[in-house]
Amino acid sequence: MQTLANFIQGRYQEPVGGAYLDNVEPATGQVYGRIPDSDARDLELAVAAAEAALPAWKAMSIEARAKILYTIAEGIELRLDELAFAESVDNGKPVSLARSLDIPRAASNFRFFAQAITQYASEAHSMGEDGVNYTLRDPIGIVGCISPWNLPLYLFTWKIAPALAAGNCVIAKPSEVTPATAALLGEICTDAGLPAGVLAIVHGVGGRIGRALVEHPKVKAISFTGGTATGAEIARVAAPAFKKLSLELGGKNPTLVFADCAYEKTLDGVLRAAFANQGQICLCGSRIFVERPLYERFKADFVARAAARRLGDPLETATEHGALVSEAHLAKVLSYVELAKAEGGRVLTGGERVRPEGRCAEGYFLPPTVIEGLPFDCRVNQEEIFGPVATLMPFDSEEEVLGMANSVRYGLAASVWTENLSRAHRVAKRLEAGVVWLNCWLLRDLRTPFGGVKDSGVGREGGFEALRFFTEAKNVCIKY
Ligand code: NDP
Repeated sequence: MQTLANFIQGRYQEPVGGAYLDNVEPATGQVYGRIPDSDARDLELAVAAAEAALPAWKAMSIEARAKILYTIAEGIELRLDELAFAESVDNGKPVSLARSLDIPRAASNFRFFAQAITQYASEAHSMGEDGVNYTLRDPIGIVGCISPWNLPLYLFTWKIAPALAAGNCVIAKPSEVTPATAALLGEICTDAGLPAGVLAIVHGVGGRIGRALVEHPKVKAISFTGGTATGAEIARVAAPAFKKLSLELGGKNPTLVFADCAYEKTLDGVLRAAFANQGQICLCGSRIFVERPLYERFKADFVARAAARRLGDPLETATEHGALVSEAHLAKVLSYVELAKAEGGRVLTGGERVRPEGRCAEGYFLPPTVIEGLPFDCRVNQEEIFGPVATLMPFDSEEEVLGMANSVRYGLAASVWTENLSRAHRVAKRLEAGVVWLNCWLLRDLRTPFGGVKDSGVGREGGFEALRFFTEAKNVCIKY
């Protein structure tokens, strides 16, 4: 039985109130640890430590700060196996995915922002003979980072790294459902020489410690990734205090397959987009629109490949499809399968919980599920399911598919599959999304702006956008 602790002032500490929550392994359904159920008292300790650490951290040379972040990246890489194992146990994702995607990306996040901060310049505005302005970009101070359970260390570090690089002290809360790798990060940061107090990692439930973090008057900015309803609640609490807010929220992403696509490449890409991480990535393409001449052929091959994905114990290296993150989430996803049937959908594969033999019999497994026959505007095609459920819909024209693709309240990501160059760009331009992939999916360059439109969020992460978010601009005007 593993007991996690908060990481405050460079040390692991028990929660002040002594309360703990169970931590469940999704692949087995068994409690395997406990985590602090922190409250405002733990937050006060973290804020006091951050206040004490802030002056020296802000004043540290960029080179010295960057060196610490590089060392954190190396520390993550050195512990790749341990972190990948912890992520897989905690989240239910295949260990091969944690090893190839989640943990390497967490290291890249630190390495990228270590380098980015050394390249980050601010602007000057000349007024000709009259004078000149220059803009200072100073750290905000103490900032809060709140992340979800689907890509735990990946998204946690995606926020923490730029905030630290910019010279802020950070109080971070991982999802209560997946705290394990975040807990290990404290140790890695200490080993890398991060001064005590610069980063605090506090565990617990969103409604208590998360809310306290958003409300705290000394926490000046909140970077949040999670569901749209939670994002709205955070905005409601933070806005009257005039806090800076970055909100990365839900998605209901369309995948547009044209008849002239490169077929095999498209099939592989669309399958990955639909079912990677059991469909629990905000960028997953869960509404698949296929041009009618290709529809039947695509459907047959797609369903066959979805059904062939190897489901099983996430800790086995051959497993491609692991467990969903929790029993409650499995129940939510299954309720959408039932809704799909009620809305007239036909389940072509999957759709029912499976119980693998052996240690995973009580785990939360739902195989890749493909549904057809649903109208584009039914609830299943409008609401975020966030699981291994994809719908197939035929279309006849570019105009029609754009109308259906853009019909949802979300606008995070989209992918388009066609060998027609003009069409690819034309369609990309008209899709209502913050990120569009042409003939690929989740191909990431960390310099690019990342985020959504409509109800998928406010603001952009990535590259200098993140450094701008985590700094305050101050213009200095000089008259000659
Ligand atoms: P939630 O919104 O439930 O939770 C996200 C985080 O916020 C968790 O750490 C949660 O804590 C915390 N939280 C919950 N309530 C509050 C509150 N009132 N104040 C402060 N913090 C709070 O999302 P999930 O964890 O369920 O993640 C899935 C969602 O995240 C999906 O909608 C998905 O689309 C979205 N997402 C968006 C991404 C993007 O980049 N746009 C990327 C990845 C996911 P706790 O877990 O303890 O409740």
